[in-house]
Amino acid sequence: MTPFERPDRCCPKCEHKGYMFRARRTVDGQPGDGEFVETKYRCRSCAHEWRERIPAPPELKRADGAA
Ligand SMILES: [Zn+2]
Repeated sequence: MTPFERPDRCCPKCEHKGYMFRARRTVDGQPGDGEFVETKYRCRSCAHEWRERIPAPPELKRADGAA
């Protein structure tokens, strides 16, 4: 099973590599694009918060809201 967090992710504001996972939810994308998983992070250095979207894998669609 592949984790969603990549070890090379960094803060888009200050590029600090320390961040905290804040929230994850499934959102609807454009028609035809299916769903996206929106993950929210917070920088440990400057407290900047940001979101990243990736296409939801099929197994996550089934587990939406269950985890
Ligand atoms: Zn930062």
